[in-house]
Amino acid sequence: MAIHVDYGEIALRNQKKHLPDSNAISNRKLKDFVDSCFAEALVQHSLAPCWVCVNCMSDGTPTFGWGRGPGKCLTCSERSVYQVATFNAWAPVVGAAFSAAAYHLLRSIYRIPMHETPGHTTTHDFEVTGLVALEAKGSPSTIKNPDGSNYQLKRPGLQRTDTEKKAFANAKTFRQRNPDAYFGVITNAMPARLLNYRDATVSGIFNLTRHEEIEVFVRDLGQTLDLEALRKQEFGSK
Ligand SMILES: [Zn+2]
Repeated sequence: MAIHVDYGEIALRNQKKHLPDSNAISNRKLKDFVDSCFAEALVQHSLAPCWVCVNCMSDGTPTFGWGRGPGKCLTCSERSVYQVATFNAWAPVVGAAFSAAAYHLLRSIYRIPMHETPGHTTTHDFEVTGLVALEAKGSPSTIKNPDGSNYQLKRPGLQRTDTEKKAFANAKTFRQRNPDAYFGVITNAMPARLLNYRDATVSGIFNLTRHEEIEVFVRDLGQTLDLEALRKQEFGSK
């Protein structure tokens, strides 16, 4: 049976836990919120990193463990040790967890009237009217193993080159069809050289674990559309 994971429910619960007061936001709380969404989604999918020795397995007594495998099998000393759950397995899960986290965070805390992109558009995840497109690219830096140890990932979010290339390729495709619209990329981690990055294709790149970067995005929105009128329409007056 397929595992059903409600990413929106995970995001909502963790938002109440880590960000109960929209007037008391800190970068620490934003990061805890996003990281908790990643962690819960992975646990619900049983996607803990682990390894197995295939040589021992073919003898009927597999040697295995959590996290990153040893260079040589601890039992048979062969190098036939392979990772089981890898980036390819958890990428769609953490991607969906981040999108849901971004959606709830930006809508309820920052009152951004965004919506999931309708139809089969693959260049971006969210829209604020037809004038603003948002592509979400997030993944964790650490995965907690069931034995309590940590599995470190060297390149979370846009720090992974493939992920950065994908975001820029999506921006380019979007730009060809929408020369005047705003295209923003949201992430939870990015290389320093992308801080405040803007070009003719990418309108802005924002780390959602940094309150000051989200504020810049909100300012950009205000310059692109009538944010207050849209907020009133979407959330009522407040
Ligand atoms: Zn072995």
